[in-house]
Amino acid sequence: MRTIGVVTSGGDAPGMNAAIRAITRIAHSKGFQVLGFERGWEGLIRNTFVPLTPRSVGGIIQLGGTILHTTRCPEFRKKEGIKKAAETLAFNKVYGLVVIGGDGSFRGALELSRETDTLIVGVPATIDNDVYGTEETIGFDTAVNTAVTEIDKIRDTAVSHERVFIVEVMGRKRGFLASTVGLTVGAETILVPEVPYNKEEIFQTIKENTAKGKKSGIIVAAEGIGDTRKLAKEIEENANVEVRLSILGYAQRGGSPTARSRLLASLFAEKAVELLSEGQGSKIVGLQNGEITSIELKKCCETEKPLNVNLLKLAKVLAT
Ligand code: ADP
Repeated sequence: MRTIGVVTSGGDAPGMNAAIRAITRIAHSKGFQVLGFERGWEGLIRNTFVPLTPRSVGGIIQLGGTILHTTRCPEFRKKEGIKKAAETLAFNKVYGLVVIGGDGSFRGALELSRETDTLIVGVPATIDNDVYGTEETIGFDTAVNTAVTEIDKIRDTAVSHERVFIVEVMGRKRGFLASTVGLTVGAETILVPEVPYNKEEIFQTIKENTAKGKKSGIIVAAEGIGDTRKLAKEIEENANVEVRLSILGYAQRGGSPTARSRLLASLFAEKAVELLSEGQGSKIVGLQNGEITSIELKKCCETEKPLNVNLLKLAKVLAT
């Protein structure tokens, strides 16, 4: 019986469990046995895993987080770490490894692919949606919806107290989450790391809004733009409004995955196992123009995913 390994690595994302479940069940249906390596790359370095069976992955499709646990593993950034992981794969005769994670995990996967004969396929799962080769990652839709639900509540207070709120959302160094959330909550301003912002312009927009009777507002800021606390103070001092800062934080990373995140997890899993059973490795699966596709792992690691700045332009028009 051939063996497929599964590992979740880097930041957790809602829908990782749905992906583990789907990979396990699809792989079993094709005659593979499945091992779940625990705690990200650490499980490959230490040879710690649990056998996954169609029964053992029951009841997890609706759970956030990852039953396999995940870590950020500094040891894996070194040659010795990668070598140990390659030895673990050889020792357990792992034919194919599915890596569920983000761009960092895929860079690790690329390094590992150079040291092992095991086929490696990446399944993009991160709330940041910053993986090249897919329009959407597992967990992104859930995080967007979580943030939107929270910001709708914050808007009640913004309107009642006639205040401006800066709401800081996650996304690490990128603005995918902020731009989608900003547009869909009707934010007056969206700040992302990819587009340098002009403070004077923000002050001016707020003053103009106040003058035309719009006395409250929501600024959605990506965590990657820098010090939002300082920005809140500066706006208060320069735009003659009360400003509050709300940092949404880790709530965005957890929770039950939306139907869309579960669907993407199931479709990505199907493609990943299909690639492995065809003998294809060093790829990541993705969504492009409504199709489930795949691209080279190397290309994914070497290319920065562009932000759709049209969303920001549209949001500006919609916020007038
Ligand atoms: P994500 O996969 O969510 O982007 P990270 O960027 O933290 O999360 O990456 C997850 C893990 O992948 C890191 O803790 C590290 O073990 C491994 N990793 C990241 N970059 C590299 C790299 N260039 N070489 C080897 N391993 C890496």
